[in-house]
Amino acid sequence: MNNILQLPALKTPCYYYDLDLLRETLRVATHEADKHAFRLHYAVKANANPRLLALIRSRGLGADCVSGNEVAAAIDSGFPAADIVYAGVGKSDDEIRRALEADIFCFNCESFPEMEVINGIAASLGLRARVALRVNPNVDAHTHRYITTGVEENKFGFYLHDLEAAIRRCRELPALEWLGLHFHVGSQITDMEVFCELCARVSDLQRHLAMHGLVPAHVNFGGGLGVDYDDPDEHSIPNFAAYLRVFADHFEARPGQQLHLEPGRSLVAQCGSLVSRVLYVKEGRDKKFIILDAGMSDLIRPALYQAHHAIENLTPSSAARDLYDVVGPICESSDCFAKAVDLPVTRRGDLIVLRSAGAYGEVMASRYNLRDLPPARFSDEGKASLA
Ligand SMILES: *Cc1c(COP(=O)(O)O)cnc(C)c1O
Repeated sequence: MNNILQLPALKTPCYYYDLDLLRETLRVATHEADKHAFRLHYAVKANANPRLLALIRSRGLGADCVSGNEVAAAIDSGFPAADIVYAGVGKSDDEIRRALEADIFCFNCESFPEMEVINGIAASLGLRARVALRVNPNVDAHTHRYITTGVEENKFGFYLHDLEAAIRRCRELPALEWLGLHFHVGSQITDMEVFCELCARVSDLQRHLAMHGLVPAHVNFGGGLGVDYDDPDEHSIPNFAAYLRVFADHFEARPGQQLHLEPGRSLVAQCGSLVSRVLYVKEGRDKKFIILDAGMSDLIRPALYQAHHAIENLTPSSAARDLYDVVGPICESSDCFAKAVDLPVTRRGDLIVLRSAGAYGEVMASRYNLRDLPPARFSDEGKASLA
């Protein structure tokens, strides 16, 4: 963390990535996945920074993409097309064509009309699309409602009662090859019971399908493993061993079946911080505000879904403490990172970091208010790169 203070020509706001922590996180995740022969596909939407993508690829992970440009970014960063899966409820014709031409491993298909369109485009190109059907398993992830994806009221995937018909249609369409099933029930899931329930639900489903002679070769359980936003130093690497063991112990895999997972947040959240400088400390009537040079355009998670990030002052000049609302400069009341944060007495010019910002941070930055996009800085700057 304190390497930040050694970065040459530090301009704020910026994202800072601890590459040693990312390497160690990847080492643990791949080591645990290898024990069970699970395939990991990194969910590119969590962070598409090219250096991070290249490092993740170098550790042998595949890529899980949700747009044509993510597929292109994954290929540009060295992910072989054969290790790329592509999900999303609204794939455009052009995105489908590009992914077919790139010959990606698998489309995670989410609806009947999408299946027909992929078939049509593949046929017109003289190609065959490998397809897994995304199923909405109706498992409640017990997470924020904006990041819950696996219950029937939301837009993702096939409903269970349509699945058999969907598989049959997929196998009928001449330019499609049915590979298996895909699930993803939500994000920032910290209760392993949710994944146990998913395993039980999918095991039941498989039993039902097997009675009709349908056995998926591939089962993809998506992502969703949460991280500790409250104490990023205590839990800098999520418990991949416990998470992956759930699937090994609770899912009744069929012989020869390949299992896949798509971790995003759990791989990259803790290695990233948003670094900012204090512009002003403003005394309100009954509270004090720290006004940062970073705002919701740099990190939108607190404004978008009341997300919590640990906040630290890296350059306090006193041991005394006070309570502050930490806000950004943008003309929106929701541009507030946290309220009543206990911090050392803070002054103009102090460096403030928002921790655990490596996932859904930089990649969601916008130019709202015509602000500049925050650049990325890396822990190995100035040292020889050992990637
Ligand atoms: C977002 C997403 C993921 C990754 O989710 P995390 O919570 O970041 O692990 C995986 N698969 C799909 C289909 C997704 O949409």
